[in-house]
Amino acid sequence: MIGAVDIGGTKIAVGIVDERGRVLSRLESPTDAKRGFPNALDRIGKMLRQCAQEAGVEISGIGIGSTGPVYPLTGTFGDVDFLPGWDGANIVRPLGEDFKVLVALENDADAAALAEASWGAGRSKRRLIYITVGTGIGVALVLDGRLYRGVDDAHPEMGHHVIDPSGPLCSCGFKGCWESLAAGPAMVGWLLGQVPLDYPHRANLTAKRICELALEGDKLASRAVERETYYLGLGLANLTTLFAPDSIVLGGNVMKSASLFLEGIRDIIRRSCRYVPFEKTELVLASLGEDANLIGAARVWQHQYGHGGQRAS
Ligand SMILES: [Zn+2]
Repeated sequence: MIGAVDIGGTKIAVGIVDERGRVLSRLESPTDAKRGFPNALDRIGKMLRQCAQEAGVEISGIGIGSTGPVYPLTGTFGDVDFLPGWDGANIVRPLGEDFKVLVALENDADAAALAEASWGAGRSKRRLIYITVGTGIGVALVLDGRLYRGVDDAHPEMGHHVIDPSGPLCSCGFKGCWESLAAGPAMVGWLLGQVPLDYPHRANLTAKRICELALEGDKLASRAVERETYYLGLGLANLTTLFAPDSIVLGGNVMKSASLFLEGIRDIIRRSCRYVPFEKTELVLASLGEDANLIGAARVWQHQYGHGGQRAS
């Protein structure tokens, strides 16, 4: 029974996940990162105890997926946009001491990728790329069930590969990264730059709302969807050419409207990827739904400490 912790920019979800990937209990709390890391740590501990009690189980390990960058092997947070003031804080050590179990930490895209590779849409695929498109674009590469890590165990940042050098300024400081052109805020930003001041849907515009408006026949929203399809397609075509994976699994909020994009994306891949067997690369939607990140957090523990895990003794 794994205590699973999913730390996002807006909320922290905690749950108990069994060895088959089923969520037995769960609780949520707003992240409220500004109240400081010790406050969040305290809430996470309390929620874990309450979840274990509700499920009637003892926690045998704790897995954490967090918005990044995080350092899996030391258990510390990096300079995370959404978690101001948490830079350098260690979450693995205090939770381990408190619960007397092993604790494992990964980037949340890596966590969700492990979940989809084990129990979801990417099951039994040898070479899997998982992509989450929401506020940003997170990408993870799983090879033979193992997360690909770079030098210094770094998580590769494929959301920041450049699609258009003349594109908008990205949060990383460079221009035209995939994320700056194809994540949800890029869709909203572009549409707001096009519409007249009296456009009736200006307030509270989101990527989801734009997709709904496109389905209702709004011409500018339809153009935003076309543009989104184009930039999603370019990034996915690049990854297909670079890795020729067995499967690409698409998750995240923007992908809830995937039916609007998929045909166009497949067309770009068909035109762009002729030197790799792109027709053999599956393009599928993530299948674990809202619980993907919690299930992923549990997989993080198994990936590091379970049978045959990276750090299992
Ligand atoms: Zn960037």
